Amino acid sequence: MSFRLANRAGQAVLLDGQDYWVLGSDPMDALIRPQELHDRWAGRGAPDGQVTLTELGPPVPAPMQVFGYGLNYRDHIEEIDRVDPMGRTAGEAPVVFTKFPTCLVGPAAPVKLKGDHCDYECELVAVIGTETRDVDETEAWDRIAGLMIGQDISDRALQTAATPPQFSLGKSRESFGPTGPALVSIDLVDNPDDLAISCEINGELRQNSRTSFLMRPVAEMVAYLSSILPLHPGDLIFTGTPGGVGHAQGIYLKPGDVIRSEIEGLGVMENPCV
Ligand code: ZN
Repeated sequence: MSFRLANRAGQAVLLDGQDYWVLGSDPMDALIRPQELHDRWAGRGAPDGQVTLTELGPPVPAPMQVFGYGLNYRDHIEEIDRVDPMGRTAGEAPVVFTKFPTCLVGPAAPVKLKGDHCDYECELVAVIGTETRDVDETEAWDRIAGLMIGQDISDRALQTAATPPQFSLGKSRESFGPTGPALVSIDLVDNPDDLAISCEINGELRQNSRTSFLMRPVAEMVAYLSSILPLHPGDLIFTGTPGGVGHAQGIYLKPGDVIRSEIEGLGVMENPCV
């Protein structure tokens, strides 16, 4: 199945560069019909128009569940351990939290900062394509509709305000979930387990890694989550962020900053901070 599914003003469109093709459905309906998306993509012909990044909403605007994996790249664990020692040991259960779906915005939407401790986290996001329960790792990729870029924007002060700390609210402020620019089918990337991932703040490179460094790869995450609860079409898994976050350096986002997120084969997002 090949397609790049995007959300233009609440309508599902196919997106190729700046060209778009109207699908005549809602993005949540479109993603559960991959064969239809594939057929439309294969025969797409002349585009219906051109779109800019700022006109795009989140490709998956209303998932039932949004999971976030914490501490899933070794260099990120090490940098966080230097500022907030956690005493984690190898073999512990993964750190998984919720981003509430109301935080989801598009690939160029403004990020509304609150307080002085908001931070960026560029991440690969896997999108579930079909109802999934108890799959093993060999079956997991078959349950994924596609991949997209996500920013797991985090209010570090709120994230650690309670004892014990709870991540979900600090990662769910309004506009704290930029995603996009499109949901890209797996066959359109070279190797879904090894994609270059990077993040720049105001043109300065802060994060630069590859998804092959994920300590728990995508298939393992899907298998683990599906052993606990059912996964639904459209559910998002933010897979964790590589090293280079602001918190580890004592630098936080400020109004006027521009967050540029890029993943090989998936495109670019550019979110201004306000
Ligand atoms: Zn994260």
